[in-house]
Amino acid sequence: MNGNDTTLLVVHAAHFAAERHMHQRRKGEQAEPYFNHVSEVAALLADATDGADAALIAAGYLHDTIEDQNVTHAELVERFGQDVADLVAEATDDKTLKKEERKRLQIVHAAHASPRAKLLKIADKCANLRALLTSPPADWPAERCTTYFDWARDVVAGCRGLNPRLDAEFDGLYARREDVVKTRT
Ligand code: ZN
Repeated sequence: MNGNDTTLLVVHAAHFAAERHMHQRRKGEQAEPYFNHVSEVAALLADATDGADAALIAAGYLHDTIEDQNVTHAELVERFGQDVADLVAEATDDKTLKKEERKRLQIVHAAHASPRAKLLKIADKCANLRALLTSPPADWPAERCTTYFDWARDVVAGCRGLNPRLDAEFDGLYARREDVVKTRT
């Protein structure tokens, strides 16, 4: 891809995500627009890779469109190409499974994901930990928040070692685990 193509890819991925997530809100007490989450993930990936991987940044914007908005893999292939669509597919849980099984499988699958899907996974978990620190869901007791922190750590354990900046970003957020207990009590 040349410079024009990569700019077009990223801009259209952002626009498509904004449209698809338009009516979706985050679970946090501030009920942020869902788009804020995917744009944070895309920005983390852009920074971590110095903007060198447009397809990965695009996948950051799109990473929850299959799981949450019933977009198909085929539609993503058609709009954004095979590479982006496959990255999003790797970041998508099988929603036919029960939640606990999906969470267990994320830990198992993380270690076997492609290197770029691992970066996407860490960025997603960074954004989710930050959300729990700044705007935890009103109905989540402290223990549920810390359990999430620990589960995220277990998923990220299978993804580490590829990008020191993302690893450090995650570790900095995980180190604030006890802060969620303070805000919840
Ligand atoms: Zn996400």
